[in-house]
Amino acid sequence: LMQLYVPLNFLGFIYATLRQSVVDLEGMFELLDESQEVTDRPDAAVLPAHLAAGVDAPELRFDDVVFGYQPERTILKGISFSVAPGHRTAVVGPTGAGKSTLSRLLFRFYDVESGSVSIDGLDVRCVTQASLRAAIGVVPQDTVLFNDTIRYNIAYGRIGASAEEVERAARLAQIHDFITALPDGYDTMVGERGLKLSGGEKQRVAIARTILKNPRVLILDEATSALDIHTEQEISTALRTVSAGRTTLVIAHRLATVVDADEIIVMQDGRIVERGNHRALLEAGGVYAAMWAAQADERAHREDLLF
Ligand code: ATP
Repeated sequence: LMQLYVPLNFLGFIYATLRQSVVDLEGMFELLDESQEVTDRPDAAVLPAHLAAGVDAPELRFDDVVFGYQPERTILKGISFSVAPGHRTAVVGPTGAGKSTLSRLLFRFYDVESGSVSIDGLDVRCVTQASLRAAIGVVPQDTVLFNDTIRYNIAYGRIGASAEEVERAARLAQIHDFITALPDGYDTMVGERGLKLSGGEKQRVAIARTILKNPRVLILDEATSALDIHTEQEISTALRTVSAGRTTLVIAHRLATVVDADEIIVMQDGRIVERGNHRALLEAGGVYAAMWAAQADERAHREDLLF
């Protein structure tokens, strides 16, 4: 029995370590070391430092991108679009269309099969992963929290941030009032062994972290779970604040967060089927207009439930 116990115990230790370390998309990436298939080229350039913490937001470009996780199944079938410096593009479409895959390619979890993904004209395959990831902030679908105070969980965005900086970020992320209403305020323990936060609250913690990190490029992978109307609005406001002056790609599941995007890309089965701003797409009366009508019905139903 002892022979079994030791490996099982060891597995338990690994599991616990994994659970604790998986903090967000970026942490998870380092941990699982998916970089086995994606490595720095010997001549990889360093993205200019101003992209990591400066004032200039870069242009993002997907140029005829073809990609599949397995060679026999193509997920992206020739995707081309660009996001102008400081602009916000939202990607919408049915589940499985390939929306989140775009963000994984931008962060270079994987390399494209053909075509290219570039930041300010630099192909992401030609820059160091460290400088790429310093320049991009990711607000993932589901943020895993440390078993620690909510203050620590926000400050993790920039180790060494002062209490004032943490509070400012929390205000901008629309989570400050929620925190101060807790009995222990910023010292409240959260995570598995502390206060459990809802999906919307966790996403706002992630937005506060990103405000502290202050990257020039932002990826928001919206949570799929349905949120109440009030939370949805708070997240939209937080997102508008955090994306100001940054080049932003929103992978959207709810249309409330895309209405004021500079451009909306509608994807279906790995292709772009429509693009334009909210008004133009409604007028076009196509796929987006149909999605909007369907979600409007759903919103009306949820509002009915509220009152
Ligand atoms: P959703 O709205 O449900 O989040 P999505 O449009 O973001 O969907 P993606 O996550 O980009 O869709 O996935 C596109 C396709 O790629 C799906 O069919 C999915 O099953 C497949 N896929 C995603 N990740 C992997 C992976 N790691 N390995 C293999 N296939 C994957």
